[in-house]
Amino acid sequence: DAGRAYPRRVDVAIVGSGPAGAAYARILSESAPQATIAVFEAGPLVSDPPGAHVKNIENAALRAEAQRRSEGPRPLGPGAPADTLDDYAADRERLVRPGTFLLARGWRQDGEDGLPAAAMSANVGGMGAHWTAACPRPGESERIPFVDGLDELLDEAERLLEVSPKVLADAPLADVVRARLGAALDEGRAPGREVQPMPLAVRRTADSRILWSGADVVFGDVTRANPRCGLYPDSPVTKVLTRDDAVTGVRVRDRRTGEEHDVEARHVVVAADSLRTPQLLYASGIRPRALGRYLNDQPQVVLAVRLRDPGPAPADTPGGPITAQSGVSWVPFTDAEPFHGQVMQLDASPVPVEGDDPVPGSIVGLGWFCAKDISESDRLEFDESEVDENGLPAIRVRYRLTERDHENIERARAAIRRAAQALGDVLDPEPLVFPPGASLHYQGTVRMGERDDGRSVCAPDSQVWGVRGLRVAGNGVIPTATACNPTLTSVALAVAGARAIAHDLEEKPCSNAN
Ligand code: FAD
Repeated sequence: DAGRAYPRRVDVAIVGSGPAGAAYARILSESAPQATIAVFEAGPLVSDPPGAHVKNIENAALRAEAQRRSEGPRPLGPGAPADTLDDYAADRERLVRPGTFLLARGWRQDGEDGLPAAAMSANVGGMGAHWTAACPRPGESERIPFVDGLDELLDEAERLLEVSPKVLADAPLADVVRARLGAALDEGRAPGREVQPMPLAVRRTADSRILWSGADVVFGDVTRANPRCGLYPDSPVTKVLTRDDAVTGVRVRDRRTGEEHDVEARHVVVAADSLRTPQLLYASGIRPRALGRYLNDQPQVVLAVRLRDPGPAPADTPGGPITAQSGVSWVPFTDAEPFHGQVMQLDASPVPVEGDDPVPGSIVGLGWFCAKDISESDRLEFDESEVDENGLPAIRVRYRLTERDHENIERARAAIRRAAQALGDVLDPEPLVFPPGASLHYQGTVRMGERDDGRSVCAPDSQVWGVRGLRVAGNGVIPTATACNPTLTSVALAVAGARAIAHDLEEKPCSNAN
């Protein structure tokens, strides 16, 4: 393959093309249309438009191929489950979902819990091409108290991801599920934190097909039509370049030729997920004390139930078959009941069901996520004696569940059982606790803080302390202990960061594209 033409200089270089990186490209395309932007993505283009959710690919063989191509250096073998839920409740320590790959080594140190299921994706769109698209808002202590205008930023994130609580709210039996959960769990909850339909980044087409939002939706037409914004797949960034206390650009490797190119940039945004963002900063010699620390994942408990008296088999939803996950109900996190509950109706049971075929939608999977007891000592370390597929230092995970975490997991087991019993007949003998890392919600490793006190990596506008022009993005910037799915929040924080760049470019007008 011939090498390709990378720009010599841009205003903004974005590393990673998942929802967080895409949010920067979108907001800048909208509010700084003169800015030149390059989005560098380590993985290949696997869907059309770029970043589209692979579940929107109707042909199963093509969908599986897109998943395998997203699995970086360790693609799943033949016979791998085709869809996210096929293997959802598998009782396996190194649980791996289609479209993702696990760390080869270093996921646990002796005597620690580690993150056996810590996973990544490497494709245009990142994990956002494989996700479940649940977009709840954080509540109570999950919220970041020092971010100004958080609700308006969350509104913007909902706009970018096209979030709606309505699209699947009328799934068969969803009203039965919500009514029973509400009767059992709503007492004492603040307004807005009662049981309700899960806001989902999902939309219906005019012909009633269901489409899942990926980074393609976040990029949006405005970014795709922006002649000053380029997307470069198969282009891992191997170094953020700095001089004195400011960024000067990035070094990118063309995976097709192995050649490296330096691209000058006034602003650099590293949105390379919670594991690889701190890895790239470390490899670039940017090593604030908090880098990689305060790592947290959400311990997750699951249980399946068969709805009691579901009523007659409902007619199909208009225009198409019932999809797995049709109908997702939400039991919001509260400080009193500190779990995020996600209740999904399935069209097949994840565990074999004795007897008659169930009424579609009457098998319900419950997932309860816990907030981790955050500790500085839960962290990523980087080992320069070994390198990964991009030539970056190998990741080592130091991670323990504390006594409080174990107590919380026990409470979650009791809470999920109570919720399940309100719905019907519990199908599993005991709630299953997933291995650490299985939530796929890793946070804290480049966390934001109000001030540069050694306990944070960046400011509330995601600007890295002490390195002018460098921002970090993604779930790693979330500093609070959250139990809810994090993508909506990290896209909201990306909106604030992108606005700050747009403001800066307004004050110091852009360079010419070249
Ligand atoms: P990612 O989407 O992970 O994108 C990061 C990108 O950076 C990747 O494409 C990667 O290849 C690229 N990259 C890494 N290093 C480099 C480098 N050096 N140079 C260039 N590029 C690089 N979240 C929710 O909120 N709700 C859900 O319901 C939900 N369900 C999920 C279900 C599944 C099966 C999976 C896999 C994930 C789920 N998630 C969910 C998690 C969600 O997908 C992530 O929170 C989200 O994608 C994070 O966005 P991001 O842009 O920060 O990172």
